[in-house]
Amino acid sequence: MRDIAQAVDSGQLTAFVQKLIKTPSLSREEAGVADLVEARMRELDYDQVHRDALHNVVGVIRGSGGGASLMFNGHIDHAGVGSMERPFSGEVIDGAPYGSPGPAIYGRGATDMKAAVACMVEAGGVVKALGLPLRGDVVVTCVAREEMARGEGIKAVLDQGFSADFAVSGEATNLNVYLGHRGKAELAVTTLGKTTHGGNPAGGVNAILKMTKFLRALEQDYPMPGHDFLGDATWTVLDIEASPGALTPIVPDRCRAVLDRRFLPRESRERIVASFQSVLDGLSAQDPEFRAELELMKWFPAMYTPPESPVVGAMLRAREQVLGSPGQMGAWYFGVDGTFINQAGIPCVGFGPGDEHRAHTPQDLVPVDQLAPACQVYAQIIAELCS
Ligand SMILES: [Zn+2]
Repeated sequence: MRDIAQAVDSGQLTAFVQKLIKTPSLSREEAGVADLVEARMRELDYDQVHRDALHNVVGVIRGSGGGASLMFNGHIDHAGVGSMERPFSGEVIDGAPYGSPGPAIYGRGATDMKAAVACMVEAGGVVKALGLPLRGDVVVTCVAREEMARGEGIKAVLDQGFSADFAVSGEATNLNVYLGHRGKAELAVTTLGKTTHGGNPAGGVNAILKMTKFLRALEQDYPMPGHDFLGDATWTVLDIEASPGALTPIVPDRCRAVLDRRFLPRESRERIVASFQSVLDGLSAQDPEFRAELELMKWFPAMYTPPESPVVGAMLRAREQVLGSPGQMGAWYFGVDGTFINQAGIPCVGFGPGDEHRAHTPQDLVPVDQLAPACQVYAQIIAELCS
């Protein structure tokens, strides 16, 4: 739609992204950046602007009724800065030395995901300014505490009654259309042995050697299921420790490993725990001295919105209108708040500016020339679904 393209002000968008990046907002420290988002929504004449105690900001544009409603979701916190230089400069640089030729906005949270938040907020403004005749509501959720990976911010917003028929997550997709991501489980396995003097290993049971048996069994016989869009499930080991330790020559009677298991939507919590337990049980059956405990530590649900979902179709069409092709369907390698939106029964699709592989890295930047198209696609999908 020509009107939409004309109504998006690229300079304004760039300036807003810069302002957001210049305002540090680690998780739980989002007040300052929430002020900016709230103020901009008011300036753009959103019908309702709501802010809660966590500094979640939700802007609503009301439709006349009878049409589909659409939620946008982004988060306003960012990961730690680590070794990144000038993380809050928000300056426009030549991205070439960073492998992204052309002007780019540099700073922590550029990719993940202040650029997308700006594009969403401004898209609502475009719809308002053009007076697009909407029937369904547009609900722009800019939430806090996403980086803590428990969905605290978005869950609070959903609990407050904000809802919609469909949703868009603006996490970085490089302007492609993402359908979700694998889930993540963290499990701790502890093998148990018997201490003895290091000079007399045969007198004990070495828990580290029992752990190596377990890890080898996983490498040899622990098949990973696959998925057309989300890729294969995977496992790896993140950490390992043994006790009592090397201060004195003693064979350890405890060894604890933390495993990372990326899973597919069809794999339940029970099924994943059982899959590891059956490997442990197999080892106990072969080796009477093999004893182990298994504990599920963390769980982050998988997200998947199938290609035949109406919101995916609408996003592909909106992208094609603006960019000339529907782009590629894919999946994030990390988890996003969209999974909690899906769990609330709202089909959610991903579309956003920036390259996901830059998230949380020292090369955190977003190409300036992706901002206006992202904003246009957001306005276009509003026109598609809500009018
Ligand atoms: Zn993110």
